[in-house]
Amino acid sequence: MIRSPRHFCMELLHLSPQAPPKQLLASQFPEPADVYICDKCGRDITAHLHRRRAHVRPPLGPARYVCRCGARYLSGANEWDNLSDWDRRQWLSDVGLAVIILVALMSFSILLYRAFLHRSTMLVGCLVVVSLFSIPLFPLFAAILAIPFEIAASIWRTRVVTKPESK
Ligand SMILES: [Zn+2]
Repeated sequence: MIRSPRHFCMELLHLSPQAPPKQLLASQFPEPADVYICDKCGRDITAHLHRRRAHVRPPLGPARYVCRCGARYLSGANEWDNLSDWDRRQWLSDVGLAVIILVALMSFSILLYRAFLHRSTMLVGCLVVVSLFSIPLFPLFAAILAIPFEIAASIWRTRVVTKPESK
């Protein structure tokens, strides 16, 4: 099958010329769709539902999302206490990464402080250049540094805030 370059580019960018976004009722989640709307009130609750994607870990969060109208749906997220050992190990390996980044940032700050202290223009210049080049990585650093807090928040939600459901 021969494809036109334009068609190829569209595919590459995941742009399809006519296809409207696929919309489903939230009760059909996790069936693939672009937009999920609440069965009861019709609100767009796509942002609260996390569809599982290959190589992307599901986020930490309540397993159920409650719409403002009171309807409850599977959210695709999971709390720490409900994760498998394998999933937990994945998260914990990122905590290790967060510690490494934290140590690196602290060392960098100390180095910068000492460079200023000794008025070493050369060293300050180098450090400023390094920090300018690492600006694009800041969102990644922030995301990794947030992981220990996300885990702590998940445990907090499960064990402290949520009262055990009586059955
Ligand atoms: Zn609703």
